Amino acid sequence: MVSSKHYSKIISLHFSPDVVRRPMMYNLAKQFDLTFNILKARISPREEGHMILELSGKEEDYKKGISYLQEHGISIQDVAQSISRDEDSCTHCGMCTALCLPRSLCLDQVTRKVLFDISKCTACGMCTRICPVEAMNAEANGDF
Ligand code: SF4
Ligand code: SF4
Repeated sequence: MVSSKHYSKIISLHFSPDVVRRPMMYNLAKQFDLTFNILKARISPREEGHMILELSGKEEDYKKGISYLQEHGISIQDVAQSISRDEDSCTHCGMCTALCLPRSLCLDQVTRKVLFDISKCTACGMCTRICPVEAMNAEANGDF
């Protein structure tokens, strides 16, 4: 069953030149009451568009918004399994653990190191915004 609870995901969009010229993001916000935070955007020389964004709203609105994008020929990838941590950059400061609700990032009480369990990650993107050294990254699969 689709609930009305708050929902947030990072997704990757790939769209054709005719879609580039349409106000799809504006429509998404206006028609489905969704908010979005564009993390990366690029138009290729052939004018195809690639975008990674965090999309948030009520779960039922989120699903309607995704259907709307797909009906307009936009291909969508979930980037949940593409959240990664640069192990060399992470200082284990722990800031991200306070924001990671599924406890994908959590402090090991013995070693005082921050552990990252990607199997619990919902790709909410919070850690990518809070990390002071940008160790947490959201990347689409493929050559975005
Ligand atoms: S906020 Fe960044 S540096 Fe700090 S523990 Fe998390 S990933 Fe590591
Ligand atoms: S994106 Fe970061 S904060 Fe969000 S669930 Fe995954 S590891 Fe936790």
